[in-house]
Amino acid sequence: MGQLVAKLMSIFGNQEHKVIIVGLDNAGKTTILYQFLMNEVVHTSPTIGSNVEEITLQKTHFLMWDIGGQETLRSTWNTYYSNTEDLRDAAVLIFANKQDVKDSMTTSEISKTLTLSAIKDHPWHIQGCCALTGEGLPAGLEWMKSHATAD
Ligand code: GDP
Repeated sequence: MGQLVAKLMSIFGNQEHKVIIVGLDNAGKTTILYQFLMNEVVHTSPTIGSNVEEITLQKTHFLMWDIGGQETLRSTWNTYYSNTEDLRDAAVLIFANKQDVKDSMTTSEISKTLTLSAIKDHPWHIQGCCALTGEGLPAGLEWMKSHATAD
């Protein structure tokens, strides 16, 4: 079992947590998900529609909601939220992926563009990463560790 998965286990223990992954097409959501789950890079095609992965590793139960970023589907996002969990206590982790790509926006540029500082009612954090190599993902997990709440 990969180091990332071992870390994920140590964060969540025996409690059930739900993780909703939302992002634009081709942002790298599936690649990040597989890095977490298998610690290996997979070649994927853009997520079509919604994709729920239910995975149990040892005693830890994960529900990963990978929701396609296509504009036509965005209006359905809130359906997933209300059907799956109350987001009141949700912490928001933004992965600024593809940092290996030349001229990619920095975390502070993305932060400004998305006006993240306007988020006052949820803990949030932006983490630069490269899902192909896994760089930055453990740091994101560390942040999750200090902000995860059990269902
Ligand atoms: P999704 O549509 O958000 O699920 O995106 P995917 O995970 O399918 O990734 C889309 C494409 O971007 C794939 O060709 C990935 O190999 C590639 N990709 C994902 N993460 C990175 C990254 O950090 N750097 C680079 N250069 N490519 C990436």
